[in-house]
Amino acid sequence: MINRKEPSFRESVDLMFNRAVALMDLAPGLEEKIRVCNATYTVRFGVRLRGEVKTFTGYRSVHSEHMEPVKGGIRYSLGVNQDEVEALAALMTYKCSLVEAPFGGSKGGLCIDPREYEEHELERITRRFTYELAKRDLIHPSQNVPAPDMGTGEREMAWMADQYARMNTTDINAKACVTGKPLNAGGIAGRVEATGRGVQYALQEFFRHPEDIAKAGLSGTLEGKRVVVQGLGNVGYHAAKFLTQEDGAKVIAVIERDGGILDENGLDIDDLQAWIAKHGGVDGYPSGKYIKDGSKYLEADCDILIPAALEGTINLDNADRIQAPLIIEAANGPVTAGADEILRKKGCVIIPDMYANAGGVTVSYFEWVKNLSHIRFGRMQRRQEESRHQLVVDQLEGLSSSMGDAWSLDPEFKEKYLRGADELQLVRSGLDDTMRVAYQSMREVWHSRDDVTDLRTAAYLVSIGKVAASYQAKGL
Ligand code: GLU
Repeated sequence: MINRKEPSFRESVDLMFNRAVALMDLAPGLEEKIRVCNATYTVRFGVRLRGEVKTFTGYRSVHSEHMEPVKGGIRYSLGVNQDEVEALAALMTYKCSLVEAPFGGSKGGLCIDPREYEEHELERITRRFTYELAKRDLIHPSQNVPAPDMGTGEREMAWMADQYARMNTTDINAKACVTGKPLNAGGIAGRVEATGRGVQYALQEFFRHPEDIAKAGLSGTLEGKRVVVQGLGNVGYHAAKFLTQEDGAKVIAVIERDGGILDENGLDIDDLQAWIAKHGGVDGYPSGKYIKDGSKYLEADCDILIPAALEGTINLDNADRIQAPLIIEAANGPVTAGADEILRKKGCVIIPDMYANAGGVTVSYFEWVKNLSHIRFGRMQRRQEESRHQLVVDQLEGLSSSMGDAWSLDPEFKEKYLRGADELQLVRSGLDDTMRVAYQSMREVWHSRDDVTDLRTAAYLVSIGKVAASYQAKGL
């Protein structure tokens, strides 16, 4: 919950935007054009459920159409409101621009607690919401392409895609109307874990730059780093899993809805996740120390803090007590503008949301391209690549025997070298590249300008610069 003394989420995003544009030399009036949300559609629709008509309120906000389609998730939560979807839509514009996903920003939401409904009820609600949005081109392969967000996932995206296809029976590109679909309904390998994977790649890239590591007062690599994760949903879970299982980091605390659990020896993320799935929370987990007020663990002594839940969780009430020298915003807007200022003054380095959680929309972009091209990535090249590699291996091995010197290639190397890339490997490679390039564009600004002292401002400068250039090229 955002403290009363603080601005709303949208105002908080605008404040950060304003801080950045003050350092830019934009054409008069362009700053306002970029900042404001172009349109927000509110829809109230009824669905007959359990013997009565239940009315639902949904939103789809379009922040910027400098590129189309516009893109952004649809959230199912009781906290959804106009201010929130507008803030999130604005962040989508900046995010897409920063990672060069060719979209404008949008976001949607439905005011609903999905846990209160059975699957068949959720399907009817989702199909009706889709119908309302599609009627106004707010779901459309070339106009507006939603995706999963909090409270939604592959299942909801499959219903939306199917509903859209039913309404547009001759549209050959209908599948591209939404991303985050299951693989068997036009999805792409690696989309489910993409945002968490992106958080991992972002941290890997950060730890490739000794100068940046030093700015956070840290040293070394990700190996052994003590991490606190808030929210073990899709993003938090995958980030925590990859960082512990692949990079040797240690997740010492996890904060969930019902409390927090802290174990200095490091938590087993898959085991904890299985416990949460079975028991509905972290309470009672056999290892570590449980506290009911989990937010206290945001203030724990650690190296890296990963807020991966709601907006506004690090705010004026707790910013002073945050000890982490490095925060990576896996959620959208987890640090309020006021908290951001306090943390900056303390020297805390914040890897901002618009970059840190851009893995989801990046892989959504790949999925959209896959849908429009109607072919799985790697289908044409994979075996050809393998046969060309085989030629090299045969030649080398032939050489060795003709020279009478019986050496052979290491079988493990051979196996890896000969294997052509499948869709998942290509998606990972594209995501890794995107995260590296975007980080480098931010750090270049961060280190080259005296008036830019944090990565968030650098991220805004890069992304607003591109949006402005695009508006200007159009001759707006
Ligand atoms: N909801 C995700 C986000 O906030 C993904 C959006 C998308 O894939 O379009 O970035």
